[in-house]
Amino acid sequence: MRSCAARFMRKGILMRDGVVLEMRGIYKSFPGVKALRNVDFTLREGEIHALMGENGAGKSTLIKVLTGVYSKDDGEIFLRGVDGAAVIRSPQEAQNLGIATVYQEITLCPNLSVAENIYIGRGSGSLRNWKKMGADADKILQSLDIPARASQQLGTCSLAVQQMVAIARAIDMDCKVLILDEPTSSLDEQEVEKLFRLMRDLRSRGVGIIFVTHFLDQVYEVCDRITVLRDGQLVGEYEIGSLPRLQLVSKMLGKDLDDLSDIKGDREGSTEEGAEPVYEVQGLQSNAGISPFDFHIRKGEVNGFTGLLGSGRSECVRAIFGADRVLSGSVKVNGKKVKITKPLDAMKQGIAYLPEDRKADGIVGDLSVRENIILAQQVLKGFFHPFSKAETAKIAKEYIDLLDIKTASAETPIRALSGGNQQKVILARWLLMHPEYLILDEPTRGIDVGTKVDIQKLVLKLADEGKSVTFISSETEEMLRTCSRLIVMRDRKVVGELTGDDLTQNKIMSTIAGGEENNA
Ligand code: ADP
Ligand code: MG
Repeated sequence: MRSCAARFMRKGILMRDGVVLEMRGIYKSFPGVKALRNVDFTLREGEIHALMGENGAGKSTLIKVLTGVYSKDDGEIFLRGVDGAAVIRSPQEAQNLGIATVYQEITLCPNLSVAENIYIGRGSGSLRNWKKMGADADKILQSLDIPARASQQLGTCSLAVQQMVAIARAIDMDCKVLILDEPTSSLDEQEVEKLFRLMRDLRSRGVGIIFVTHFLDQVYEVCDRITVLRDGQLVGEYEIGSLPRLQLVSKMLGKDLDDLSDIKGDREGSTEEGAEPVYEVQGLQSNAGISPFDFHIRKGEVNGFTGLLGSGRSECVRAIFGADRVLSGSVKVNGKKVKITKPLDAMKQGIAYLPEDRKADGIVGDLSVRENIILAQQVLKGFFHPFSKAETAKIAKEYIDLLDIKTASAETPIRALSGGNQQKVILARWLLMHPEYLILDEPTRGIDVGTKVDIQKLVLKLADEGKSVTFISSETEEMLRTCSRLIVMRDRKVVGELTGDDLTQNKIMSTIAGGEENNA
């Protein structure tokens, strides 16, 4: 160990004692996206290191660079026991260097035995004898306290055990770096505990573990240090004890706690407390993995879901609209019980939804601006009763003018428009339905400031006209300006609701952070 470190020193490369992995100055771009910019990452031996950041921060990209799935554009990777910068051009090379990865989706073979799964596909050359393989596997399982037998078919084990077998496989390959990318998403509490026990055990054997999770509680339960990424850049590396949850959230969001405490919208509480809810649900749950939640919105109200990216905001509104498969929940629209299990049901109730991922859910690139505007209305009317071209041309022109959509003509394919203008087209599509209740998921993301303000104004105008709007935005300032009630999400659960004087940046962050440190 020491001699190894000394060797690096001689070469002028500093690899500190007790460090197994050092990534320095990593750059990686995709067309149009700088996914990693000058990122450093250090992993010590015998530690559990959380890699944190909102969705899109660059966590997976960093891991894929490390495991040879992506080639880096620049930067160096140093590994204990490897002379000079390590060359990692493929997952196989990463594995040979002792870097093991366990992905969220289990990539083992359910039809094979546990033992076969531990040993399958080893490029070790020497063929193993089956009997010995079983005995060896049992030894490993025992030593790691994994409740499975070598001869058992993997598919008959619980998901948690399957994940542990994946880890056992990694360990037996003598890994020094173990990467767990969101391994706990589909595990129940007990299974998570078992997994944590195994992780702690490995830590005590000197393995360096990189743990990617979006569950804050888990980070504080099991990790030693945290590296935070934001927008492809390193925010910092922290000892767990020196970074209270609230500060972690603030670093992930990139908001300074104190600077933002007094950003408060100028719109007074416009929720008509007495007004009947236009939409109301109890125990709503979809197949997208969010905890069941209650929700309502009144006439003329603008409310919003807030929380870190990935906290379940979009999943909530998708459940409301029936865009994901609804599993339970009793819905009332204007006080009457209704069933909303698919978008068409919601549309018929006067609910409209502008999805977050307009590329995937919203625009039909090859259709013209006019056709894209008319689409939802046509769906409602049924395709056997098409609008005349003259009718649609008139409607399209009206909305192009109203929203100031910059397009050569109504017949231009929508894909030729800028992102902001595409967004306006989709917005026009839903406004045209004159919805009673409009759901806007990130309507202003990636669009210019002018259009942003236009959309915010439009939201408030709709509310003044008695429509209801649920608004989601990653920019909390924007939500504070438009919403009179915020529903706060953490780890796919609704954890709070803020109104009145509580509508502040600080309060949002402390609610997201949870725990005991609301005043930190
Ligand atoms: P995280 O894992 O933190 O959620 P990612 O590393 O997956 O973030 O993504 C970082 C950024 O790089 C995002 O903007 C994402 O859209 C982009 N990105 C990731 N992989 C690719 C890819 N294969 N092609 C294009 N863009 C990508
Ligand atoms: Mg990721």
